Amino acid sequence: MEKENTKKTDMLSMLPQEIAEIVSPAYRAEQIFSWLHKHHATSFVAMNNLPLSLRDKLEEIHYISTMTTLEKHESVNDGTIKFLSATHDNNLVESVLMSYKHGNSVCISTQAGCRMGCTFCASAENGLARNLTAGEYCAQVYSAFPIKNIVLMGCGEPLDNYENTVKFIKLITHPKGINIGQRHITLSTCGLVPEIYKLADEKFQITLAVSLHAPDDETRQTLMPIAKVYPLSDLIKACKYYTKTTHRRLTFEYAMAKDINTSSFHAQTLVKLLKGMMCHVNLIPINKARGEFLPTSRNETMRFAKILEENHIPTTIRRSLGNDVNASCGQLRSNFSYMSY
Ligand code: SAH
Repeated sequence: MEKENTKKTDMLSMLPQEIAEIVSPAYRAEQIFSWLHKHHATSFVAMNNLPLSLRDKLEEIHYISTMTTLEKHESVNDGTIKFLSATHDNNLVESVLMSYKHGNSVCISTQAGCRMGCTFCASAENGLARNLTAGEYCAQVYSAFPIKNIVLMGCGEPLDNYENTVKFIKLITHPKGINIGQRHITLSTCGLVPEIYKLADEKFQITLAVSLHAPDDETRQTLMPIAKVYPLSDLIKACKYYTKTTHRRLTFEYAMAKDINTSSFHAQTLVKLLKGMMCHVNLIPINKARGEFLPTSRNETMRFAKILEENHIPTTIRRSLGNDVNASCGQLRSNFSYMSY
């Protein structure tokens, strides 16, 4: 079965118009799409309003992505559930389900591993195994269903898997499928400049979160190798283009690492960098996931936040959920778990 899958194509990754190119009459394509994305069918046999001959034909040349849940850890403190799942070829990914009064959010992975090499991030430890397919993004969402918000903040760099990320957004927001509003999707990136321009031009109404983590190139380069490829001046230019094109407010994520990026000099430099931008800053006490980084105390984080706020930069401090299930290990946290400063 696993071997066969590699030869077949993943039907969960296909838009109705792509399915229509291989099945007729055309309305069948919508039926299949709806089975997959509305009813979360995991086999062709289950699609009982399709002729058997068509179901057999689909079975021969296609498969449906699945994520097999290997472990499920539920936090006793806040109900956060962390899933460890395997793709059909045994690549491991993590996703996290967070419950809130206003609905659930799921944080999904976009790659098995990551090649960005951020020095504090657990996902970077063993490099990239492979990109996930758009269907594999969907499968993570459907296994956490029902949900209201989706954050692309699990393992991997979504803009390093650009085509599948864009395809996923189209699939998950499709009116014939599960039809999630674009404003309920947040994409977090370490700052791949050319792809930020491309994404802006797609004109989605999703929220872009940029992992900044430092206000100057020198500090940022010690945390994120990508900063050597794209200096902050280029990144900020791309961010401004994103807001100008989409009219969406940006989020800047800033992991507070004691004695590294947390001085008042850093806060003042950050103020200058973001001056006049339509954005807000989300401060995250760094999680001990990789490297020797230490989180800041609540007081230190508040002091930093105060400098930003005094300079009219809206700032939130992220509350960690799921600590007891290791869900807050850096890449697996919620963008919606803000605690207002
Ligand atoms: N590659 C994307 C998305 C995945 S990481 C990105 O870089 O944005 C999601 C967020 O978690 C990023 O802001 C990342 O920098 C942050 N993160 C990773 N490890 C962390 C850690 N140990 N402590 C705090 N934040 C961490």
